[in-house]
Amino acid sequence: MTTATNGRLRRLIETELAGVTARLPRGAETPETPSSGADFFDVAQGVEHQELATLSASRLFERARRLRLALERVDDGDYGVCSECGRPIPPRRLLAVPDATACVECQERLEVGV
Ligand SMILES: [Zn+2]
Repeated sequence: MTTATNGRLRRLIETELAGVTARLPRGAETPETPSSGADFFDVAQGVEHQELATLSASRLFERARRLRLALERVDDGDYGVCSECGRPIPPRRLLAVPDATACVECQERLEVGV
């Protein structure tokens, strides 16, 4: 894979990761400066939806983790190679699923569990 493609994918993953990180519960991932004078009603409403938020938060954490791994693989030069068969993952698939670690064929096989 060319350096230019790597740079493009890196930016794509970083953008995706930034989006995921922004949606993570405040303070759970990166320590943020507490906003001065946080609105009490916002906090109360946050507690109300906490159960739902926790559910999606664990998914977001998992996604953030996978995207960080993808970034590491871009740096190592392993990115875009199927972890199952070792063939290059088509760039179109990577653009659609930046944290993909397997090609479509292998991913399908993994999901079916054969
Ligand atoms: Zn494969």
